[in-house]
Amino acid sequence: GLSLSAVSKNFGEKQVLCGVELHVRPGELITLLGPSGCGKSTALKIIGGFEQPTSGRVSINDVDVTDTPARRRGAGIVFQQYSLFPHLTAEQNVEFGLKVRRIPRQERKERVAELLDLVGLVEHSQKYPHQLSGGQQQRIALARALVVAPAVLLLDEPLSALDAIVRDRLRDEIVRIHRERGTTTIMVTHDQEEALAMSDRVAVMHAGRIVQLGTPQEIYRRPESSFVADFIGTMN
Ligand code: ATP
Ligand code: MG
Repeated sequence: GLSLSAVSKNFGEKQVLCGVELHVRPGELITLLGPSGCGKSTALKIIGGFEQPTSGRVSINDVDVTDTPARRRGAGIVFQQYSLFPHLTAEQNVEFGLKVRRIPRQERKERVAELLDLVGLVEHSQKYPHQLSGGQQQRIALARALVVAPAVLLLDEPLSALDAIVRDRLRDEIVRIHRERGTTTIMVTHDQEEALAMSDRVAVMHAGRIVQLGTPQEIYRRPESSFVADFIGTMN
C-alpha cells in the first residue's frame, strides 16, 4: 500500500497541496479526480519522488520514502504524452528499466516478451514510437512501467490524448492488467466517467485538498459537498 500523511506543497507563495491524507490499500486502484490545476499531477509527482513535499510524509509498503530518490522508490510511472524514447524501438523502450537495473540479458528478454504479450503488442515490438498509434504508444509506456514489477504504478492521465474508441479499449486493458497483476495503482484523471468506471475508490480533489474519498457508488450517490455533486453532475 501507500500513504500520504499531511502532505503539503508550496510553489513560492502558492500553496498547491494542503495537508493531503491518503491511504491506499495494497492492490487497490485509486483515481485522483478533479479539475485542472487542483494539484493532481503534483500529488503524483510527490508519490513518485519527482517533487519533494514542503511538509508531510510519503510511505510505500510501510517504508517512509519521503527522502528516497525517485529511482529507488519502486514506483512505475506513465506520463500523459510523449514519454517514450524516440530513438529506441518498442521492445528497447520496455527493456530500458531492466538494463538500468543490470538484469541479465536472458531474463531481460523473457520479461520484455511477457510484458509485450500482456499489452498485446508482440507484433509491433520492432517499431519505433513514431510508427505506433497513440494508443499503442501508451501501451508500450504501460509495459515499460510494469516490467520492473513496481511496488506502485502511477498513471497521469494515460488516456486523455486518445480518441474515444481507443480510450475505452485501453481503459478495459488497464483494469484487466490491474486485476491480473494486483499492482497498487494511482491514476490521475479529470474525467468523472473514467474515474467512476475504473476505480476501487475515487479521491475527489479541489484546490489542493481531497474533499471526498469513496467507492464510485458512494461518490456518485452520496456526494458530501456541492462541489462534488456539481463536478460529478456534469457527467453526461
Ligand atoms: P491538470 O488537470 O491541468 O493537469 P493538475 O491538477 O494536475 O491539473 P498540477 O499540475 O498539480 O495540477 O498543478 C497544480 C498547481 O500548481 C497549478 O496552479 C500549477 O500552475 C502549479 N504548479 C505546478 N507545478 C509547478 C511548478 N513546477 N512551479 C510552479 N507552479 C507549479
Ligand atoms: Mg496534471
